[in-house]
Amino acid sequence: MFKNLQELITSMPDEKSCKKFLEQQRWQNGIVCPYCGHGKCYIIENNNRYKCASKDCYKRFTVLVGTIFEASKIPLQKWMIAFYLNTAHKKGVSSCQLARDISVTQKTAWFMLHRIREGVRAKKPLRLKNNVQMDEAFFGGHEGNMHKDKKSKTKAQLNQRKTPVFGIIEEGGKVVVQATKWMNKRNAESLMLKHIDKDATVVTDAFTMYKIIGAKHFKKHVSVNHIQGEFKVDGFHTNSIENFWSQLKRSVYGIYHQVSSKHLQRYCDEMAYRFNSRKIRDNERFTIAIQNCNGRLRYNHLINNSLTLGEYGKIKEIGNQED
Ligand SMILES: [Zn+2]
Repeated sequence: MFKNLQELITSMPDEKSCKKFLEQQRWQNGIVCPYCGHGKCYIIENNNRYKCASKDCYKRFTVLVGTIFEASKIPLQKWMIAFYLNTAHKKGVSSCQLARDISVTQKTAWFMLHRIREGVRAKKPLRLKNNVQMDEAFFGGHEGNMHKDKKSKTKAQLNQRKTPVFGIIEEGGKVVVQATKWMNKRNAESLMLKHIDKDATVVTDAFTMYKIIGAKHFKKHVSVNHIQGEFKVDGFHTNSIENFWSQLKRSVYGIYHQVSSKHLQRYCDEMAYRFNSRKIRDNERFTIAIQNCNGRLRYNHLINNSLTLGEYGKIKEIGNQED
């Protein structure tokens, strides 16, 4: 097993070796047909392709079918390097940087990175327990080149341009990050019920909605009133989630500069993946990301839909895509 980027490149010098690695990671318990899920398949065309043994299916496929690499013209080695850079670098890698690193256009690099984010997105809802902190933050709303008549006059107007993001973290554990259209009780409640164990102690700021939700659904709720200068109540605080926000903001504004609300959730997913796997080594984080590379993401789909905001509905795009 490689230990760093250089060893990765040496161990996967060409398309064939990359495919072999992908097969090992994807099919650890044997080849599975990507079309019907059948567990018996034939090897055909000199080990290059496979054929489903199910009489109802009989389809031919390669290891790339059903993954984010499907129908990509980019050599797999470039994909592997992109995956490695994106998962190993704490703040991620920008499309401009990746384009230079692996000799592709910025547009290609941008699309590759979004596919990688789709790959590392948590496919099952995480459940958080024990001490859980929840908080909200706002991203975007960049007004740099906007005409002065269109710029926000007040802070409230500026906040309206921004995208609210909920963050929930288990102390010393994993984080869930969800961009939303509206930061209201209904959205907060459904997110909390989805991700927080009812026996957990939930720590939030002094927002009234959290007090109502906390009292209704969870064993204990603690609100920390930052405006009144409180930072700890009976030993409970929201430091973990605030540290996470500062990391996410450094990444979004430092590496990506500007993220449109349409794609914000993908950056959140990327950051959450790295954060949630922070205790393992770079090569392990890379390998787990490769094992989860199922799910094709088409360019048109990426451009036209804000699918990642899911149940929170479609959100109007603000800012640009220069990220
Ligand atoms: Zn099949």
